[in-house]
This record gives sequence, structure tokens and C-alpha cells, in this order.
Amino acid sequence: MVDLISQYQNLKPEIDQAISEVCATATFINGPAVKSFTDNLSQYLDVQHVIGCANGTDALQIALMALGLKPGDEVIVPAFTYVATAEVIGLLNLTPVMVDVQADTFNTTIDLLEKALTDKTKAIVPVHLFGQSADMEAIMTFAKANNLFVVEDNAQAIGADYTFSNGKTAKTGTIGDIGTTSFFPSKNLGCYGDGGAIFTNNDELAKKIRMIANHGQKKKYYHSVIGCNSRLDSIQAAILDIKLKHLDLYSKARIAVADKYDEAFKNIAELKTPFRAKYSTHVFHQYTLIVQNGKRDELIEYLKTNDIPCGVYYPVPLYKQEAFSKYAEPGFELQTTEELCRSVISLPIHTEMKPEIQDYIISKVEKFFNVL
Ligand SMILES: *Cc1c(COP(=O)(O)O)cnc(C)c1O
Repeated sequence: MVDLISQYQNLKPEIDQAISEVCATATFINGPAVKSFTDNLSQYLDVQHVIGCANGTDALQIALMALGLKPGDEVIVPAFTYVATAEVIGLLNLTPVMVDVQADTFNTTIDLLEKALTDKTKAIVPVHLFGQSADMEAIMTFAKANNLFVVEDNAQAIGADYTFSNGKTAKTGTIGDIGTTSFFPSKNLGCYGDGGAIFTNNDELAKKIRMIANHGQKKKYYHSVIGCNSRLDSIQAAILDIKLKHLDLYSKARIAVADKYDEAFKNIAELKTPFRAKYSTHVFHQYTLIVQNGKRDELIEYLKTNDIPCGVYYPVPLYKQEAFSKYAEPGFELQTTEELCRSVISLPIHTEMKPEIQDYIISKVEKFFNVL
């Protein structure tokens, strides 16, 4: 699905030097590389505060901890997302309330959020799924009107731009009260292990987030709240600092791969190519097709026999996961989420896609649908 080996080979001298520099200076924890990267990322995103942490799941957990919610408070999340988005809500004894998504953008919208609103609702966690922003202007208006916090799960869309109705743009993850991301190796900005970050323009929240991520201490050995231990390693930060310089080029490379797939598949009636919203750029963390003839699983088998990797993100709605059974009535279903879980397939997309490999993938998909 990704080619992280070629990507490394193309940056090898720079990356190797950055890693040896951290080793030579033994600045493994909170070293200058962490400050340099978080400063550069905050400049890139145009956001006041970037706080590194150990992974994208911790980022979500710490963000929610900083909001000061009480057990039983409800947090609305899309049912069609990676488990981490909702897992941390349950972990903090908050109640995840799962809502449907739109069939075209795969993201949730305010009409869907509205249905889940109760007087216990305290926050929304929109997910910018597969690399495209949710409609943040509408979501922020809705959140303000109902006094809700917004934490953007931006693990899949770092670098994407959201355009407001007045023409202004902002990077995804910087629009809500807090944004979070993951630097898992296969993410659009990935490190060589685990990593994550939290963004905010709110000075008070930033202070709390820093404190929570650092054992709840403001001053060494003086602990104000129960926190956790979640840091971005210096080695990972040094790698990310180099890769950040290439992020826009990486996004461009992904978009070019998506454009080529779109062009090839537009005449296959059984396939719906990814929708591109007017209000967002799409940085294609995944290239996700909808197979409209019920043959998704047959296509997976066919690709497998032809040595083409593919993925299903996501095969099971969150409310049907055993771990989340206590948050959903038996038989609870969300129609679009159900349909997507049955019909989506994601094809290989990454920054080092060779044209002949993509041609091969396209030709096999065309063959499956008998258009050759
Ligand atoms: C990857 C991902 C996460 C979690 O990130 P980790 O670094 O693996 O903990 C959270 N939310 C979404 C939508 C993701 O894709």
C-alpha cells in the first residue's frame, strides 16, 4: 500500500545524518530536534502551539483530558473511522455517541451531528477521513451555537487546506479548539516509529496539554493533575523535521496518483471514484473507491491473486465492535456507514508510486470489470 523503503532511500543521507546527530549529542528526550520540528510544524500549519506526543491515540486522549469533561459527558464521533477516535472517549469514562457520515465525503456533517445532540453533549470529534477536511465552518458554527468543544482528528489529513466561505483558508487541525495528528510511518507525514502531535491556538489549553502530557506537572516533581507520559522522541522529531520540508511535494505526488486513478476509472459504472469537496483540498491518505455492484470482496480476491495489495477502511462500524457494544442499543445501525463498510476498497497510493506499477494496478481493475 505504501513504499516507505524507496521514500527513505531518496532522503537517506539527510535522514542518517539527522539520526546520528541526535545519537552523537545524546539528546534523546526533549532535545533541540523536538523544538525545531514543533516550531517548524507550527509555522507550516500557522497555528500557535504544537505539542509533540507519543502517538496519534495519545494525542486524542490528551486533547480530551485538557477539556476538563466529566464522566458520562457525551462526545460525538463518526461511526466510520479508525477505532482510536472513539476508544479514548471510552477510556476516559466519557460516552462516545456515534453518528453517520456522508456517502460522498465519508465525513460527518451538521445534520447528522444534530440528531445525536443531547443536553449531555460536550464535544465533537470530526475526523478528516482519508485526507479530506470535514466541513469545518458549518461544524464550528454548530459547535458555538451549542456550546461544544471541537477536537479535530487530523491523523489522515495533515497538509490539507480548508476554505471558508469568505475565501480564507486554514490547515486542517487548526480550526477547532484542538487538533491532533499521528506520525505513524504510513501516515502522510510519518516517522520511523510512533509519534503524534496536538495543535491549538488557545494558550490556556496549550498549557494544560503540555502539563497533562508531562505527568500533570507544571514544575518538576510538583504534580497538579493526573497526567500521562507521552513524548515525541528526538530521533523521530529529527526525521520529521526533514520530511516536513517535503510534505507539500508528497501531497502533490499523492494527488497525481489519485488523478490518474480517477481518469482511468471514471468510465467504470460499477466504481465510484473519491468525491472532492469544494471546501477542501484532498491529500489522499487513502484512495478509496466504492464498488457499487456488490462485488467488493470478489475484487479484493482478484487483486490478491494478482499480487496487488488493497485495504478495507473500515470493514466494521464502531457500534458493531464488541468493545463498543455498551454504547449502542442492540440492532443499532447507521445506513451510510453500513453501506460503506460493505462497499469501500482502498488501492495503493503513496509518494513513490512508479507509473508502470500504477498502470498494472489500473489494468487489473479494468480487467475485473471487463472494460479492457
Ligand atoms: C492513525 C489514526 C489514529 C491513531 O494514530 P496512532 O499514531 O496509530 O495512535 C487516530 N485516528 C485516525 C483517524 C487515524 O487514522
